[in-house]
Amino acid sequence: MKKGLKVFKFGGASLKNAAGMRHVATILQRFAKAHLVIIASATEGTTNALELVVQLHQAGKSEEALAQLHTVRQAHYDIARELLGEQHDCYDQLNDHLVAVEWVLDEEPHENYDYIYDQIVSVGELLSTQILAAYLNQAGLPTHWLDARDVVLTDDIFREGWVQWEETEERAVKTVLPLLDQGGFVLTQGFIGSTTENFTTTLGRDGSDYSAAIFSYCLDAEGMYIWKDVPGILTADPRLFDNVIKLDRLSYREAIEMTYYGAKVIHPKTIKPLQNKNIPLYVKSFIDPDGAGSVISDEIVDKYPPIVTVEKKQALCTISARDFSFVAEHHIKRMFESIAELRLQVNMMQNTALSFNVCFNDVDDKVDRFAQALEKDFKVMITRDLETITIRHYDQLTLDSMKRGKMVLVEERLPQTILMVVKTLPVITRKEEVV
Ligand code: ADP
Ligand code: ASP
Ligand code: MG
Repeated sequence: MKKGLKVFKFGGASLKNAAGMRHVATILQRFAKAHLVIIASATEGTTNALELVVQLHQAGKSEEALAQLHTVRQAHYDIARELLGEQHDCYDQLNDHLVAVEWVLDEEPHENYDYIYDQIVSVGELLSTQILAAYLNQAGLPTHWLDARDVVLTDDIFREGWVQWEETEERAVKTVLPLLDQGGFVLTQGFIGSTTENFTTTLGRDGSDYSAAIFSYCLDAEGMYIWKDVPGILTADPRLFDNVIKLDRLSYREAIEMTYYGAKVIHPKTIKPLQNKNIPLYVKSFIDPDGAGSVISDEIVDKYPPIVTVEKKQALCTISARDFSFVAEHHIKRMFESIAELRLQVNMMQNTALSFNVCFNDVDDKVDRFAQALEKDFKVMITRDLETITIRHYDQLTLDSMKRGKMVLVEERLPQTILMVVKTLPVITRKEEVV
């Protein structure tokens, strides 16, 4: 362990343009003397733009895919030009990453969509970190650019690589610590890793927070800091609700519960590695870096206010045996096998004598594939466009306000948590009188 090592993570919102990168540099200036490993995401919107490149390529629209990639190239060159001027080695590095994607686009659509996805979408983080590293060096903050794929080893499940912890830890110590010993920061990419055969993998959307936790764990960091566009962890998403308040302190357990149920502020896999090594996580505002933020640690917090999380795009599957038999153990086993195979996240489950209800995030075609896998022996009804609303530490007032305008399809009450699967009711408005 390197004494005083901190891991910082900057997400897309803080790196949206040249001004964002300059601002990140001013924050880092305060830590010029610290041993810092910095994890950065792609610039805001880039991962979505690259997802479109993948879709177009896989649909056989190669010209359109190239044109879409060109807009990504342009956006990055514009930022680089603003920060670095016309002449800089950085352009060659950006070009190398982009040409590697063009080679992929030169090929026919690939049978493995997820594999191609990772080879293309991963370039977002490579581009943003090349520009940021070049700018930090220019701004007098010596920074080593590190390819995260040389450290984070995963299995070969593309788009959701699972980390091979022992090898990753070994590589992190071997690669990162000598760089820190040379002085300066180490800057690397969130979200990406690599298989033993050196194919690029990604860790799942929004996975850069998790990458920072992987580096924190492997390097025994004294603290991990994520810099967000909010003052800290709030009692609900401020984009969806008014009157939210900041939580100064949270236990690891509370943070895991919140993020598992969809609080978008931190990727759900982030907390476990930190908890395992008792590394505190500071959630700070990049807009107000002097603000206290929130700290997540092993400290027990006596009392929390009601905390609400909303997960949209939910699908509820109601499964019953075709022969009218009870939902028995061997049925449940079959369902769980399919869930595990498809790596589906279960947000709620409940059963009656004749049916099993399970609610998933409705991503890609996974829910349809789940239904197909069971179709021979089961009747599967899928209800889509639902939301799950979770209230931790609920009170009646919060519960009533969450139910307003919603039809509750399933409700589950535990001592500290209420979870509801709801459908938004169409608002009935009175017709204007025709005079
Ligand atoms: P980044 O790009 O830095 O990873 P994200 O957009 O993933 O940032 O996460 C920050 C956003 O998370 C905030 O802008 C906010 O809208 C949302 N969010 C959702 N739930 C919460 C919460 N409980 N507290 C704070 N922010 C939340
Ligand atoms: N760039 C990736 C995404 O948008 C990872 C991240 O931002 O955390 O999903
Ligand atoms: Mg994020």
